[in-house]
Amino acid sequence: MGPGLYIHVPFCVRKCAYCAFFSRPPEPEAVAAWRRGIARELETLPGGFVPQSVFIGGGTPTALEEDDLARLLEVLHSRVKLDKVVEWTCEANPGTLTPGKASRLKEGGVNRLSIGAQSFDDAVLKRLGRIHTTAETREGVALARATGFENIGLDVIYGVPGVPLESFRADVEAAMALDPEHISCYCLEIEEGTPLAREAQAGRLEVSGEEQRAQFDWGRRRLAEGGWAHYEISNFAKPGRECRQNLLYWSGGDYIGIGPAAHSHWGGVRWGNTPELPEWKRAFEERLEPEAKARETLVMGLRRIPGWGRAEFRARTGFDIDALRGTEIARLAKEGMLVADAGRVRLAEDALFISDSVFSELV
Ligand code: SF4
Repeated sequence: MGPGLYIHVPFCVRKCAYCAFFSRPPEPEAVAAWRRGIARELETLPGGFVPQSVFIGGGTPTALEEDDLARLLEVLHSRVKLDKVVEWTCEANPGTLTPGKASRLKEGGVNRLSIGAQSFDDAVLKRLGRIHTTAETREGVALARATGFENIGLDVIYGVPGVPLESFRADVEAAMALDPEHISCYCLEIEEGTPLAREAQAGRLEVSGEEQRAQFDWGRRRLAEGGWAHYEISNFAKPGRECRQNLLYWSGGDYIGIGPAAHSHWGGVRWGNTPELPEWKRAFEERLEPEAKARETLVMGLRRIPGWGRAEFRARTGFDIDALRGTEIARLAKEGMLVADAGRVRLAEDALFISDSVFSELV
């Protein structure tokens, strides 16, 4: 799979209660400075960089004014060779997606919209600090279709404290009823420094791992039954609609991230930018030893439901899975966390919900 380009749009109208990502309100001066910075950083793309997927994420790309979005697309067309791009995603918030912005994105080459629905209960959206209503989510999907987007993803959150399984079921059914090509189903994480974390510290949030697991298990079964194949721990897609850019990350491929807080991996070197505006710098740069990179690729690839084919892994990294982590894999397989046979290694169904603890034993 060819390389990917990621553009970080660090603006949000308002901070959601659970979010620890780097973003600021889209004040005109900050947006103008950011745009100049993006244009400058695009000048540093390595020669021969021809992406096959592009992902404009954030933050909230649709928090930009229509003209700013148009200028971003123009600068991308003028600085990047885009004729090999197969998938071009832009994230959209239902509260800021307008007909004008949808058209600009479509005309500019974006062919996939990833819409943050999160919940189909207005009271839950409010608690999460989302700026949109469920009616706006439905309107956003209808608008995307009317604009000609044939590839739409919806994000839904499970495990919100105080939200019972019945409500989450209704969320999944509502997302499915909108018939998107892709559904991401993420567990709500309580991140340090967020309003939600403060509520949890004050003892006002009851987070039940059991309830979260019940929602995850119900959701993955229902989505698969509805025709969205489970292809990564948190992601489901209609046939052929898996997100290429994410598959690229999970298979250890090359990508370049542009913008504050963006990360890159190119030709065995990894770097990341500082989360700063108006000017960001390179925060770190490291050359990965082939073995360390192979171990990381092993873990990333196990996020995919089919896991790794042993031959595929060898071809990708030059290492044999067992030579890298044979002892740990045998133990985790015995404990029922991995399924390992002569051809493949993958997460066992029971380990999907607790994958992080399995991965920590493999890195
Ligand atoms: S819209 Fe997304 S990036 Fe912005 S604050 Fe909310 S969760 Fe964070």
